[in-house]
Amino acid sequence: MKQFLSITFIMFLLWNCGQKTNENSAEKMIITEKHSEEAIKGITEKFPENSRQEIEKGVHHAASLWRQSDGTEQEFVAFCTDNYIGDSNEKHAVLIKVSEYMESLFGHFNKMTIDMKKNVDLQTGQLHAVDHMFSAYSAGAHLNNDFYGNKIAFLVALNFPFYSTEEKNELGENWTETEWAYARMGDVFNSRVPSVLIQNSAAVSAQADAYIAEYNIYMGNLISKTGQPLFPENMVLLSHWNLRDEIKANYSNSENGPEKQEIIYSVMQRIIDQSIPHQIINSGEYNWNPFENKLLKNDRQVEAEPESDKRYQQIVNNFNALKDFDSYHPVLNTSIKRSFSGNMQIPQEEVEALFHEFLSAPQLKQTGEIIKKRLGRDLQPWDIWYDGFKARSSMPEEKLNAITQDRYPDAKALENDLENILKKLGFENEKARYLASNIAVDPARGSGHAWGASMKEEKARLRTRIPEGGMDYKGYNIAIHEFGHNVEQTISLHEVPYYIMNGVPNTAFTEALAFVFQERDLMLLDMKDENPDAEYLKTLDILWSVYEIMGVSMVDMQMWQWMYNNPDCTAEELKNATLEISKNVWNEYFAPVFDIQEQTILAIYSHMINSPMYLPNYAFGHLIHFQLEEHFKTQPLASEVERIFALGQLTPREWMIKAVGTPLSNQPILNAATEAIDHLL
Ligand SMILES: [Zn+2]
Repeated sequence: MKQFLSITFIMFLLWNCGQKTNENSAEKMIITEKHSEEAIKGITEKFPENSRQEIEKGVHHAASLWRQSDGTEQEFVAFCTDNYIGDSNEKHAVLIKVSEYMESLFGHFNKMTIDMKKNVDLQTGQLHAVDHMFSAYSAGAHLNNDFYGNKIAFLVALNFPFYSTEEKNELGENWTETEWAYARMGDVFNSRVPSVLIQNSAAVSAQADAYIAEYNIYMGNLISKTGQPLFPENMVLLSHWNLRDEIKANYSNSENGPEKQEIIYSVMQRIIDQSIPHQIINSGEYNWNPFENKLLKNDRQVEAEPESDKRYQQIVNNFNALKDFDSYHPVLNTSIKRSFSGNMQIPQEEVEALFHEFLSAPQLKQTGEIIKKRLGRDLQPWDIWYDGFKARSSMPEEKLNAITQDRYPDAKALENDLENILKKLGFENEKARYLASNIAVDPARGSGHAWGASMKEEKARLRTRIPEGGMDYKGYNIAIHEFGHNVEQTISLHEVPYYIMNGVPNTAFTEALAFVFQERDLMLLDMKDENPDAEYLKTLDILWSVYEIMGVSMVDMQMWQWMYNNPDCTAEELKNATLEISKNVWNEYFAPVFDIQEQTILAIYSHMINSPMYLPNYAFGHLIHFQLEEHFKTQPLASEVERIFALGQLTPREWMIKAVGTPLSNQPILNAATEAIDHLL
């Protein structure tokens, strides 16, 4: 039996290998310019009145998705000629039909995912291994493939062609809601990357995740310049998040805080330049003095062997895997374009220009002066993580806990109060009732999250952790943040002009409304923070964290640009380039504030290893939040939230202009910072 099984297994492998080669040739792109021209000619003859430009766009879009397995070149030409919709009323009717079908599909798949993960996400009692198996299952995984198989994808691509973010920004200014909906329909099937490349990229990405997840530093084994261990024996910190948080935590340690911060900083520098001994990564076998890079075992010095560029190898692997996608994206033909113009929908050059403007702002130097004063010393490079602006609330936390515990003993109590919360925020009675009736509160296992619906007949879900004695203040504060997400999810699903436009331009926009809600958490408890500086401190706290995140984002972006300019680079070359880039970014934007040159610290972020070019997203939530808050100073919050979040998925630029009258801007946060600096300096 055993023998038989293993032979079957080998046969399965051989069969699978054969399948893969077939799949590769089946996934070959075969439509040349000549065939596209033929199709365009056929359609123009049929509809001589129609815009030739639109016909060309649709045919080229469909051609970029057509593979050998979809049919011959002549079949492509015939498909286009037969399926082009020349009549504008018919096109609109098809938009509505396809939207309805998609709402049902996406809505039910989303519902299934919520159901499959229910036991893992919610407090439903003991988990079984089978819960994890279902939770990892994705019912909708084959939808895309199916839609190429039955040609729905081609019909949609041909009639609703893809517009780049640049085109949407340029043309969208004058588009009607219907034209926006056509353009969003064109985003649904915008590329078709062979599954083998997607699998490869997923495998590489999983390796990078594993590399990061197993990068722990045993803090009890670190020794100071004078040979002393300073950290608790059993303290183990994951790089870089936990290391950074430990630096933050030591601002309130007057005994040996700065000394501990300096050790952590030294560890970070050795991770970045890869001189860190591999023997101490994820292991407590050795003691290590990171300043001299001295490794000890049982008090005897042993040779330190450097990690040798493994960190940068992960990035090179990611780059190679993602670069393989390029030729399958006719417009977004680099990973940089896909991250910015594609996912974020802001062209990379615009992101860089916006960050450059912020990073050069005089308010940063002034805030640096305030920090210097508060610390009573010159700035050190790790003060990019200065944590002393966290305002002490004038209310003792126990008092706040008592209020929230009494008000919200369980999830049901919060759910029943949602309508009331919305009324306090200024929503009309009927509107508050309607929004609240579309949001359900579930008791979460973790700290909570907000999960929107994808069809109107389902509710958005507010997941929150409520301990035995009722909701504590921290949990309440997070729940109000998540509630902001739910309100966005509900308005931007139910009130957008077309289903296909549901949502917001990118995650930063929903984050901004969550911040708006969270800011008002005390008011919702009928309380007020009496600390007169609270708001100013908070502004500078956010300003300083945006400063840091834009700095590391600059390094991340420039590193990817360097890789595209040096596509055959080795890990060592990438390391040297990254060290150079991080020093340049530091010298340009941080040295003037810190009065220290040549620091590499901006290259420490783990996101750079496993989430390529994701970092810039974090800065935008705050910028948008300040833009909205400035708008709400003169406009009523509730009715404006309803109007603004019903705009749906425009581009960030168009959304912002229609929302508050100006494109994305640093000015509101910098204005707020000036006000805070005047008060605190
Ligand atoms: Zn959030």
